Amino acid sequence: MNIVVCVKQTPSSTSVPVDAATGKLKLEGLPWGLNPWDEYAVEEALRIKEKLAGSTVTVVSVGPARAEESIRATLALGCDAGVLVSDPSFEGTDSFGTSYLLSLAVRKINTEKPVGLVLCGKQSNDYASGVIGQALAAWLEWPSAAFVRKFVSIDDKAAKVERAMEDGIDTLELDLPAAVSVIKEINEPRLPSLRGKMASKKAAVAKWGAAELGAEAAKVSAGGRLEQVGTSTPPARGGGVLVPGGTAQEKAAFLVQKLKELKFI
Ligand SMILES: Cc1cc2nc3c(=O)[nH]c(=O)nc-3n(C[C@H](O)[C@H](O)[C@H](O)COP(=O)(O)OP(=O)(O)OC[C@H]3O[C@@H](n4cnc5c(N)ncnc54)[C@H](O)[C@@H]3O)c2cc1C
Repeated sequence: MNIVVCVKQTPSSTSVPVDAATGKLKLEGLPWGLNPWDEYAVEEALRIKEKLAGSTVTVVSVGPARAEESIRATLALGCDAGVLVSDPSFEGTDSFGTSYLLSLAVRKINTEKPVGLVLCGKQSNDYASGVIGQALAAWLEWPSAAFVRKFVSIDDKAAKVERAMEDGIDTLELDLPAAVSVIKEINEPRLPSLRGKMASKKAAVAKWGAAELGAEAAKVSAGGRLEQVGTSTPPARGGGVLVPGGTAQEKAAFLVQKLKELKFI
């Protein structure tokens, strides 16, 4: 099976500052790495490849030139090929444009060797919309499943997956090709081998721009459909209260008093 994994290069930081004046993320100077959620999508693709003989894994990323580093990180893990979708005209595009570009890349790969499965992470750790996987499936008109925590079975024609929902687990059967986004519970990502790291440095990463993809400018133009009104950091949490008292009874008495003051009891 030909598997495509969509990966995004994102800041390797748990705290991305917001520019108060513009309401935009301040990304300059931050370290970059593979979106943590995408590590699970890559791992699952590699596991399926190991199960289904003759499979290949192609990694696609939409982003600037530096995103090539993250593609190489996946080649070091055992992915077979990488494609960087990049063009000055793609800068500033929104999720509509990004998913459109990914769908063009999948279609292009599909003409060379039919694609059976596209895997995405649940969300990115910067913009975190959690929509690309489903939007991509819509562009491709393929079945899709989100929040997948397990591939129960997969062959060339169909996949059975478990999807984690708030009230339980759904089991879904999907005809392939399909687009699936996965959650962290699905596996434990592997680490790269030294040999993999060395090989990934020399591997060729294809670069596709607007011309190679035949992208319509109107679909990727910045600010076309979605206006980013603002981004702000959540208000700082107030300090907690340390429950005083040497014994459990004293601590309980303090808590009861507090709950009474707050009129909870
Ligand atoms: C008005 C506007 C302007 C923007 N301008 C910029 C900009 O100038 N520069 C910029 O970097 N971002 C910009 N963004 C953000 C960018 O459009 C989003 O990061 C992108 O659409 C993906 O959305 P997300 O990060 O929320 O991914 P999610 O939907 O949360 O990601 C889910 C999964 O989709 C896949 N995925 C997501 N993004 C990519 C990608 N790029 N390549 C491959 N796979 C991917 C991954 O598997 C990921 O786990 C802008 C957004 C808006 C709304």
